[in-house]
Amino acid sequence: MAAVTAAVESAYARFGTRAGAWLTEFTRAGGRVACGAGCYHCCDMPIRVSLAEALVVARALTPAQVRAVRAHARKVARNARAARDDDEYVQGHREDVSYCPLLDRESGQCTQYAVRPTRCRDTFSAMSARFCTVGVWEGMNAGERRAYRAEVRRTPGTDGETHFIAPLEEMSEPVWTAASRAMRRAWGVEVWGDFWTLTTLALDEAFMAAVGRGDRRAALTAARTLGLHHPVTLEFA
Ligand code: SF4
Repeated sequence: MAAVTAAVESAYARFGTRAGAWLTEFTRAGGRVACGAGCYHCCDMPIRVSLAEALVVARALTPAQVRAVRAHARKVARNARAARDDDEYVQGHREDVSYCPLLDRESGQCTQYAVRPTRCRDTFSAMSARFCTVGVWEGMNAGERRAYRAEVRRTPGTDGETHFIAPLEEMSEPVWTAASRAMRRAWGVEVWGDFWTLTTLALDEAFMAAVGRGDRRAALTAARTLGLHHPVTLEFA
C-alpha cells in the first residue's frame, strides 16, 4: 500500500506547486478566484476518486470520522440505488446525502485538508461562490441563465461553459495518471468510484486483501457484504 499512497502524495505535491504558481500569475493578471477559507458550497457535490487517493484519506481519519464516513457511504449507496440517471444522482447527492462529513460546518473548514482528494484540490470558482450553491442553477429563469452564460464567457479562467477554473482541472490530470499507474503496478487492477465509499472500503481488511491479490470478484463480494457495491460508486478497471 505504501508505494500506492506515496505515488499519490508525490503527485499532489507536484500539482500543488504548479497550481500555486499558476494561481499567482492568474491573480496578478487580474483573474478572480472566489474560493477561500470558510467557503464550502461545493462540499455537497459527489466526488469521484481512485482507491489510491482514498487510502491516503483513510489513514488520516480519527475513529469518529471513520464512523461518519461509513454512514455517509451508506447514504451514497441509497442515493445511487434510487437515482434513475446521472442528473438525479447528482441532485440526490447534493440535496439528500448532503455535505461531506469531513467538513466542519461551524468554521467551514475541511478537517482533512492536507489529505483531501484531487477533486477537492482542483475545483476553484472564477465567479461568485453563489453559483456553486445547490439549487441556484435550477432556480434560475431563462434570462438569468443567459446572463450567467454571458458572464462565464467573459470571465478569465473558465472554459466558457461553467464558472469553474478550467486550467486547474487540466493541471490535476497527472495525479489521476499517477494513481492509475500505481494501482495497476501494485495490484494489477484499478479501483475508482465514490470518495466516501472507497474511503470506507480502504479500511476493510477483506476488500483490501482481495484488491491486493487483484481479485475483483472477492473485492466485490467484500463490498457487497457492506452494502457498498453499486456500479455507480465502485468500478474496477
Ligand atoms: S474532503 Fe474536505 S474539501 Fe473535500 S468535500 Fe470533504 S470537507 Fe470538502
